[in-house]
Amino acid sequence: MTRQSMYNAQCTMYNKQQNDNKTKCHPERSEEYRRCRFQYSAVPVNEVFFSYQGEGIYAGLPQIFVRFSGCNLRCNYCDTAKALTVNKDSQYFTAQALYEYICDVYERNKKFFFLKKGSKPSVSFTGGEPLLYADFLKELITKYFKNKFSVYMETNGTLPEMIKKIYNYCDVVAMDIKFKSACKKDLFNLHKKFLNVCKNKTFIKTVITEDTEKEEFVKAVNLTAGISNQIKFIIQPSGFNEVINKKVFEFYSTAAAKLKDVRILPQLHKLWKIF
Ligand code: SF4
Repeated sequence: MTRQSMYNAQCTMYNKQQNDNKTKCHPERSEEYRRCRFQYSAVPVNEVFFSYQGEGIYAGLPQIFVRFSGCNLRCNYCDTAKALTVNKDSQYFTAQALYEYICDVYERNKKFFFLKKGSKPSVSFTGGEPLLYADFLKELITKYFKNKFSVYMETNGTLPEMIKKIYNYCDVVAMDIKFKSACKKDLFNLHKKFLNVCKNKTFIKTVITEDTEKEEFVKAVNLTAGISNQIKFIIQPSGFNEVINKKVFEFYSTAAAKLKDVRILPQLHKLWKIF
């Protein structure tokens, strides 16, 4: 039996077990109860693959990507619709099975990493929102990763209680500040709590669309500067047209006046047409 078919068999067995549990589950047991059970044992993963980071200050570096299924937000510019919910493409992995899968993907792509002495291959946890599965991630990293991989956590920055659980095990936190114009929610209080937990390992990303308002952008800059003006701050255009270009250049001046390191960076994977 190959490794891949072993994982598939394990996932099929797990899914069957979960379905059996669901049918046997007392009707008064809520969805939350079932969700928590998932959190501690196996979680839905949309895909695991090798590529180059497409965004932020690590853009262009090789990584293994683990994309979890499920997200607590619905941003209007989201480019990963396939991972917003648990769906037919999701496969449930236990921590051990996911670790072995990551190792396999790394072994197959080792030749692209060119690691310097003392550095480790980087695993980017993304989604969806990976912090929905913080307990699982803690198990995966502490029990299996040990010193083999470095941890890059890509998050929407809205789950402060979750990042507290695994902050110590992350090497880099790539945190979005989400605007009400894109997500229909004011998330600034959650962002503030979140950033206070992980300010020393975090860089911020703001996605600028035609709808982004100056006022909300200024609020994001002030929130960041109020915690530390050393936090790196990325302005990421959602596309290229006159309206967005104008906003991006104007916003750069606003941010650079208050923060030490501000950059305008596009998404490489969109240029490469990888989604
Ligand atoms: S937080 Fe990320 S994955 Fe979730 S909807 Fe927004 S862009 Fe999409």
